[in-house]
Amino acid sequence: MKTNLPKIGVVGVGHLGQHHVKHLSKNNTISFSGIHDVDYERAKEIAVEYNCNSYNSFDDLLNGSDAVSIVTPTRTHAKVAEQCIKAGKHVFIEKPITKTVVEADHLLQLANKSKVLIQVGHIERLNPALMPLKDFEINPNYIEVQRLAPYTVRGTDVPVVLDLMIHDIDIILSLVNSPVKNIRASGVSILSDSVDIANARLRFENGTVASITSSRIARDKVRKIKVFQKDMYVTIDFLLGLTEIYRVLDADQDDPAALETASLEAYGKHKKIVYEKPDINPFDALEMELSNFISSIKGEQTPIVDGQAGREALDVAIKIHDMILEDIH
Ligand code: NAD
Repeated sequence: MKTNLPKIGVVGVGHLGQHHVKHLSKNNTISFSGIHDVDYERAKEIAVEYNCNSYNSFDDLLNGSDAVSIVTPTRTHAKVAEQCIKAGKHVFIEKPITKTVVEADHLLQLANKSKVLIQVGHIERLNPALMPLKDFEINPNYIEVQRLAPYTVRGTDVPVVLDLMIHDIDIILSLVNSPVKNIRASGVSILSDSVDIANARLRFENGTVASITSSRIARDKVRKIKVFQKDMYVTIDFLLGLTEIYRVLDADQDDPAALETASLEAYGKHKKIVYEKPDINPFDALEMELSNFISSIKGEQTPIVDGQAGREALDVAIKIHDMILEDIH
């Protein structure tokens, strides 16, 4: 019996929740307490597949757990998380943290009072293609992001800004160390009752500008980010797992990682531009995210995306969405 290990369960075992179960049920640094879903037939199916307990009652799962991963539809996050936090359980909440900032603030207050952790599933922060940026000082002047996806009904319970764009908002907020100064945004509804295509431009207090386009009406998936800063340009294709870095160096400076070099006249000086394509070590971002949650519960790490960061991304997303609605009406 793994009695001293943290007991972690999953609530909501639909499309994404089943993957949480896959990772947590085989993780031998925890005791997997089981699963609950309002669709009990679905819960039983997943329990058979991963050889774990399924509970018809959420309270029963909660009573047997120290922490819960919440993978229910976004509109239910606030209620489900509140129940967990009030019972003194740590929560991993899939993104977005909640549907409204008021709900997020309420959860943050409760968690603070109950001394439990909130982690938010902004999985793109752990995209392997983003990791090479850790080796450089990142001070962006301009960021351009595109995230396009073919239409599926799943996720349309929230507008595209809360479904897709929020991933990029979270990444941008993690790269720019400055408050948002102003926002411009517009968007349209095409196939759902809410906004399906959105474009936003964020200007930060320090002058950084970020332009983000998100669409769930596309034939092919696109997930790209370009980061421009003094003497450096990074382009990342999240789908291909391809990161390319161009840097401006002094003409006599050496860079062992350079794959190609070209001379360049910049600022009236002889410079050179070097091209690098760092090796990307592939890993499963969800597995890594959950393992960060487990280590954080044990006090060995801190959450990569904590409740406050989830709340900040939501706040910007909602401001963007409100501006789009104002623009439409
Ligand atoms: P889904 O509809 O496939 O699954 C949700 C499951 O939750 C269903 O099985 C449903 O029966 C169950 N459920 C609904 N209300 C419940 C409740 N109150 N208690 C218990 N179970 C309940 O949805 P999904 O696509 O798996 O998305 C779930 C969440 O994950 C959403 O918040 C979504 O935004 C998020 N998500 C995040 C990413 C990411 O990239 N991080 C990707 C997909 C989905």
